[in-house]
Amino acid sequence: MRRIAIVGGGISGLSAAFELERQRREGAPVEYVLFESSSRFGGVIKTERVDDCIVEAGADSFLTEKPWAADLCRELGLEDQFIGSKDHQKTSFILVNGRLRPIPDGLVFMIPTKLRAVFFSPLFSWRTKLKILREWFDPPPAAGADATVADFIERHYGPEMVERVADPLLAGIYGASARELSVAAVLPRLVDMAGKYGSLGRAMAAMRASIAGNQRPLFTSLRQGMEQMVDRLLAQIPAGACRRPGTRVEAVGRESLKWQVRNAGRTEEFDAVIVATPAPGAAELLKTIAPLAGELCTIGYSSSMMAVLGWEEAVRRVIPGGFGFLVPRGEKLRIRAVTFVHNKFPERAPPDRALIRCFLGGSGDEAILDSSEDEIRTLICRELEQMLGIAQKPLFLRIYRWKKVMARYGLGHRARIERINHHLRSLPGLALAGNAYDGIGVPDCVRSGSGAAKRVLAELALVPAEPACRSEFPETAL
Ligand SMILES: Cc1cc2nc3c(=O)[nH]c(=O)nc-3n(C[C@H](O)[C@H](O)[C@H](O)COP(=O)(O)OP(=O)(O)OC[C@H]3O[C@@H](n4cnc5c(N)ncnc54)[C@H](O)[C@@H]3O)c2cc1C
Repeated sequence: MRRIAIVGGGISGLSAAFELERQRREGAPVEYVLFESSSRFGGVIKTERVDDCIVEAGADSFLTEKPWAADLCRELGLEDQFIGSKDHQKTSFILVNGRLRPIPDGLVFMIPTKLRAVFFSPLFSWRTKLKILREWFDPPPAAGADATVADFIERHYGPEMVERVADPLLAGIYGASARELSVAAVLPRLVDMAGKYGSLGRAMAAMRASIAGNQRPLFTSLRQGMEQMVDRLLAQIPAGACRRPGTRVEAVGRESLKWQVRNAGRTEEFDAVIVATPAPGAAELLKTIAPLAGELCTIGYSSSMMAVLGWEEAVRRVIPGGFGFLVPRGEKLRIRAVTFVHNKFPERAPPDRALIRCFLGGSGDEAILDSSEDEIRTLICRELEQMLGIAQKPLFLRIYRWKKVMARYGLGHRARIERINHHLRSLPGLALAGNAYDGIGVPDCVRSGSGAAKRVLAELALVPAEPACRSEFPETAL
């Protein structure tokens, strides 16, 4: 019997455990233990029911385009719980000089695909509009080194596209600014498109034409909230022997071809270990393996705050249609993005309730996580009144502080991941999973967890090896 430890019971670790459980049921001679330091599993996926509203503390959905989370849900029998985003009202806005400006039709992520709509939009100055027009005729550039997202987008569309669109969009996903993120890691598909077509606008328009008629919603969620996924996974992973909540792993090391896992003052021996914690924690656990730990600790992490507020019906009537809005840093506010949850998904709030999620923190404002609940309440109510004219007190406010949970893919990230993979090849039985490596969204984490499980099973010669597959497109913030 081979023993495998999984450290970290977020969606990545749970997906790894589920894959091991599946193989065990199919007869693989394997047993496993899922260690989780907190008393609950799920990590940043957490749902609460407040005043008949479904309140998401972390992820509220996943991108439908990425199949891994939906496939897992289907396997867990959750397909009848899928709800799609209400894309017929998917307009989103950007706050510009204190006013909400609709994101023009055809602006996909940050790429204009319909020149006419962009030209009539008040979102951009004439200078930017001319740059967008010229970009349509750009030739493919010579291949270059990795660049920041800000430099890449600025090259195509100028600084206003960075400040008003790219930066706030990515702040909501990575808790980082476009100046801190590697374009090769965060937007690999755009880099490929630019290499092939030159113009991102032309490339994206061609791609959209080829997938026209796709009726799938942009985002998928679950009727009772994202934690349904966690609950269903846990129902498959036997309690007791296989799960250890409230158990922090202190160190992972290697001795005579076995892996030693120290927890609660004792050391247990395993044939393989999957470390599914955020990268700085993984670096700490693996500090005796210096070259690997040295790479892991250079992956930056940001902290963020999610505040969810509910109001009565009168406020719902004041809130514009659409999924929500982004707040560029230049607006000098601390709320970075707002989602109108009752517009974005069905069944999240009763018809007589307004439900809003506000995203705060991220790089440049992590100090907000240390503010008191009263300070945050005052700040959020003041800014929402200023931006949306909501003067009424909320019926409820929930604040969730997420310390160092969002990976920041800085310059050279892909080269760093290649070096990490190189180190792992000389450490059979060790695998890493989580949002630090090859995609930050829930589907990426599912793929990373189950991929890590398959890899260690193959290394232990319990299943055949599978080729690796890369993720390609990040989430959008709203
Ligand atoms: C506010 C917010 C909103 C988001 N929204 C979306 C969204 O809408 N859509 C989307 O696709 N993605 C979203 N994401 C991203 C996505 O939810 C996360 O990237 C993903 O859930 C991370 O899962 P994980 O298992 O890799 O890590 P985590 O959820 O961080 O889990 C790691 C676990 O490891 C445990 N752990 C750490 N150290 C130890 C140790 N030494 N011993 C034992 N256990 C340990 C922790 O307690 C934790 O439970 C969001 C993230 C945040 C923070």
